[in-house]
Amino acid sequence: MKVLIRAAICIAALVRCPPPDYETKPIPERGYLLRSTVPHMLWFMAPIEAARLRAGVDYPADLSQFDRFFPDEEACASYLQGLRWPDGFVCPKCGHAAQPWQMCRGLLLCSQCRTQTSVTAGTIFAGTRKPLRLWFIAAWEIVSHKYGTNAATVRRLLGLKSYETAWSWLHKLRRAMVRPDRDRLLGVIEVDEMYVGGWDKGVYGRHAEKKVIVACAVEVVDGKRLGRVRLRQVANVSGEALRPFVQEAVEPGSSVFTDGWGGYRGLSRLRYDHMVINQSASPDPAHVLMPGVHRIAALLKRWLSGTYHGAVSREHLNYYLDEYTFRFNRRASRSRGLLFYRLLEQAVQTEHSPTDDFFVGTGRGPDSATAKARRKSRR
Ligand SMILES: [Zn+2]
Repeated sequence: MKVLIRAAICIAALVRCPPPDYETKPIPERGYLLRSTVPHMLWFMAPIEAARLRAGVDYPADLSQFDRFFPDEEACASYLQGLRWPDGFVCPKCGHAAQPWQMCRGLLLCSQCRTQTSVTAGTIFAGTRKPLRLWFIAAWEIVSHKYGTNAATVRRLLGLKSYETAWSWLHKLRRAMVRPDRDRLLGVIEVDEMYVGGWDKGVYGRHAEKKVIVACAVEVVDGKRLGRVRLRQVANVSGEALRPFVQEAVEPGSSVFTDGWGGYRGLSRLRYDHMVINQSASPDPAHVLMPGVHRIAALLKRWLSGTYHGAVSREHLNYYLDEYTFRFNRRASRSRGLLFYRLLEQAVQTEHSPTDDFFVGTGRGPDSATAKARRKSRR
C-alpha cells in the first residue's frame, strides 16, 4: 500500500513539475551556453504542413504563374473561396455544407436556404470597390520583395489615383500578417527592449525619450541559431509594460534571458525560468551577451530606414513590426509564392477594418481636411 501511495505521489509530482525542457550551462567566455531539448513542434510541424502545398497547384510560384492563376475577378474570388472554406463551403446561415451556386461578383448562393454570401464578407477585402486582382497584385508585391514595398511603389504599380488607398491597403495586409491565435515562443528566449525613431543627441538607451520603445523576444535554438521573433511597441520600460509583453509572447516554462533591468523582476513568479545576465559584471559588451535581440534590433532598424526611409509614425509602428515579424519568421520559406498563399490565407480570416481607422490621429486620409479640399478643387 505504502509503495502504491509513494508511486502516486511521484506521478503527481511529475505531472505538476515536468522535467526542465532545456539545460543551461554557464561558460565564462560567452555568459551562457544553451542546448534546447524542447521538441520544437512548430518547427517540426510547419514544414510538413507546407509540404502539403504544391507550387503551381496551390499557389503561383512566379509572376508568369501568377498571371495564369488569376486572369480575372472570377479566378480571384474562387481562390479566396478555396482559402476561406478549405474543406468545402458551409453556409454561414443554415450550416448546409454543399457546393453553392456561383453568382456574379464573388457571391455564393446556398442551395438549401438561398442565402447569398459574399466571399469577401468578414475579410480584409470586405466592401472594396476595386478589383480583387489589384489586391492580389499588391499582396504579391509585398511578399515577392525580400524587404517589402512601400505605398508609393504600390500606387505607381497599380495605377491608383490616391496614395492613401495604396497606403491603407498595405496596412490592411499588414494587419493580416499576424494571426490573433498564434502560438507563443517556446524554449530559450532572449528578451530586451530597443529604441527606434527620433534621435536624442548624446542620450542613449533607457534615457532616450524621443525614441519609441519596442520590446523584443527571440528564440535562441541550440545556443546560436535564431528562431521566431515577437516585437511590440511598449509605453515605457516599467514592469507593468514589459511583463505583459513577455506573457503575451512567451510560453510559460520557457527560459527567459534578460539583463538586470528592474522591469523584468517577477518573471519567475509568472512561471518563467528567468535568467538574469549581469552585463556590468561581464567584460563582454551587451551584443555578445545577448546576441539574438541585438541582431534583431540592427536588422529591424536597417529595414525601417531602407524600405520606409524612417517615415514610420508612432501610431502605426505596431503594424510595421507585424510585417517585420511575418518576414523574419518565414525567412526560410522555400518560395515567395508560399508566402503569398499564407498572407491571403490569413487575410480571409482577418476582420475588415474601416480605412478611416488607419488615419486616426495622422491628419491624413480620405476624410482629412487636405483630401476634402483636394476633392473640392477638382469639382
Ligand atoms: Zn444556407
